[in-house]
Amino acid sequence: MEQIIRLKDCDPNFVYEVEEAGGENVHLCFQCGTCSAGCPTVYTMDYTPRQIMRMVTLGIKDKVLNSETIWVCASCYTCQTRCPRGVEITNVMGALKSIAIREGVRAANEKGPAFYNSFVEIALSYGRMFEPLLMLKFAQKSEGSLSGTLKHLLRHASLGMELTKKGKIALMPHKIKGREHMKKIIENIRKIEEEEK
Ligand code: SF4
Ligand code: SF4
Repeated sequence: MEQIIRLKDCDPNFVYEVEEAGGENVHLCFQCGTCSAGCPTVYTMDYTPRQIMRMVTLGIKDKVLNSETIWVCASCYTCQTRCPRGVEITNVMGALKSIAIREGVRAANEKGPAFYNSFVEIALSYGRMFEPLLMLKFAQKSEGSLSGTLKHLLRHASLGMELTKKGKIALMPHKIKGREHMKKIIENIRKIEEEEK
């Protein structure tokens, strides 16, 4: 689909913002499309990884931060390991998520931030993932009401049972040692973010 890009809608500093947030080397992209060709979730994206890289360098901030793509990226690193220019594409996607959350962007895929926030809360409590609680928190945050949460859980119950039967999901959480160090790291990151505001 043909789209007109207006200069007034572009932010020339966006690419630097992304690089500073951890998405290094995005300006090296020469648009070969290898990242999009190998991406396992590209069929659910509104913009392919290649398009996102281009939009970042052009400064089309609003569309990038509101895209589905940044939230459905599964952080699998396939693109990053294949990129002939060494662009850290997965890290760029991560940086875009952080900026979107920091700037309070209401994403097209509103469930994305709900999922990531739930993930971080559990990682902070246990030091590793506990999927049943992840699903519960995600359902609560993304649905907002008790009835919505229950419907959400019921919709996914059979998949959960299947995964539990195959031993892919633990019924009880496991906590790692040294969780206080993890909390300290996160606290320090948040402190630095506050100071930079
Ligand atoms: S694989 Fe690398 S160089 Fe090619 S389009 Fe993707 S980011 Fe750009
Ligand atoms: S890291 Fe994200 S963008 Fe890259 S291949 Fe995996 S899902 Fe696609």
